[in-house]
Amino acid sequence: MIEIVDLYKYYGERRAVGPLSFSIEAGEIVGLLGLNGAGKTTTLRILACDLLPSSGSVRVNGLDVVESPHEVRSLIGYLPDTPPLYGEMTVRAYLHFAARLRGLSKASADKRVPEVLEATGLAEVQDQLIASLSHGYKQRVGIAQAIVHGPKLLVLDEPISGLDPVQIVEMRELLRGLKGEHTILLSSHILGEISETCDRILVIREGQIAASGTEAELSSKLLKNQRVEVTV
Ligand code: ATP
Repeated sequence: MIEIVDLYKYYGERRAVGPLSFSIEAGEIVGLLGLNGAGKTTTLRILACDLLPSSGSVRVNGLDVVESPHEVRSLIGYLPDTPPLYGEMTVRAYLHFAARLRGLSKASADKRVPEVLEATGLAEVQDQLIASLSHGYKQRVGIAQAIVHGPKLLVLDEPISGLDPVQIVEMRELLRGLKGEHTILLSSHILGEISETCDRILVIREGQIAASGTEAELSSKLLKNQRVEVTV
């Protein structure tokens, strides 16, 4: 579903990412774990066709993000680190707007939005203004807008960050539930936030993969004193 080979991204002279290579199979839920500034957001923005790579190859379902951004965007649901939610809109109106923005006809959006409200646990707050919602519900709205066009791949930038313990449990359940229909890549800077949710974790440090594996494999690497700098 994702194949990244020798990706580099420079901001001016500064290398933010690279050399970075990894792949993700369809149906996996994978965590991209790293400290602030490790290159997570840059990598996810390139996948979401929001930023051009400096060099290297990034493919989604076999399509190159530089050559076929339009097609790639239709395959991806993207939750940015600060999603552009419109506080003065109701949840339902916003999702309808997001659906139309992604090319659904009015009739398709009318059918799809109630399904998405149900799938993300937002049905009960659908008539509330987004500004009035808790952070946990706002994150759900962010996930809902990401899945509204039925993408195969979800790219979620720190979906669990800043949630309280109850909201974290609810978000984990939501993500595991979405796994049936979507391949998911999500970022975090805290291992404990994502270890239960993800099948596999990629540790990114200074724009490169420093370690990868299940939580158990990463823990055993830590025990063997390999340098895996993560916040646990
Ligand atoms: P965080 O968790 O803080 O969001 P991150 O792992 O997502 O961090 P990035 O945001 O991808 O990391 O940043 C990687 C590096 O690139 C950092 O050193 C950052 O300062 C730099 N960087 C990111 N965006 C820009 C930009 N627009 N211009 C210049 N440098 C940037």
